[in-house]
This record gives sequence, structure tokens and C-alpha cells, in this order.
Amino acid sequence: MNRVEREKRAKITCATCDALCCQLTVVLDEKDDVPAHLTTHLPGGLHVMAKDQEGWCVALDGLHMQCRIYASRPTACRSFVMGGPYCRAERDEHARQGARTIALQLI
Ligand code: SF4
Ligand code: SF4
Repeated sequence: MNRVEREKRAKITCATCDALCCQLTVVLDEKDDVPAHLTTHLPGGLHVMAKDQEGWCVALDGLHMQCRIYASRPTACRSFVMGGPYCRAERDEHARQGARTIALQLI
């Protein structure tokens, strides 16, 4: 990892992020030990974390923006690296959508 990459990562922290990655589809594998009532199956059969009506993972404590099953969170969530490429892509997309909303409001 080069210096620019390290500096980009260092500025990113979950503590000041709206848990953006907890709106993604979290595919479960057979080793994951998540309570069944927090999961669902997609039409194609994939076993995933269920989402609420607003698109958030149902395991998210929306008041504190914290995972309620952090100790036993799925493998996919464990491997999602804070400040990593997927994290940054989500944050960039969120920022773009926010900018678009502001632009639409100004029109
Ligand atoms: S991993 Fe990235 S996208 Fe997810 S909460 Fe942390 S900073 Fe936000
Ligand atoms: S299981 Fe926890 S870390 Fe994973 S998406 Fe749901 S709330 Fe976020």
C-alpha cells in the first residue's frame, strides 16, 4: 500500500460513518451462526441477512448505528475492511447521491 492509499484509509472511521455497509446485501455462508429470524432467502435461493423496509440490515441498532450481533456477525461483515476499497466505494457513492439530492433540491 502506498502513502496516498495509507492516508486515505487513515481518515476513514466507522465512528463517523452512517454504517453505509450495513445497507449492502450480506450473503451468509454455512459457517455463519446468525439467528434465523434475522435472515432470509432471496428468490434465487441465496441465504442473506434480512433488511428492514428502509434497506438496513435488521441486525443494525439504528439508534446507535451499531451491529447488535457484532460478536457473531457474518463472515462477509468481518472481511469488510474499514477504509478498504469496498468501504471507500460505498462512501463515495453515498457522497455522490447526497450531492445529487442537494442539486435536485436547488433546481
Ligand atoms: S466499514 Fe466503511 S462503510 Fe462500513 S461503517 Fe465503517 S467506514 Fe462506513
Ligand atoms: S450483521 Fe451487523 S455488521 Fe453485518 S450488515 Fe448487519 S448490522 Fe452490519
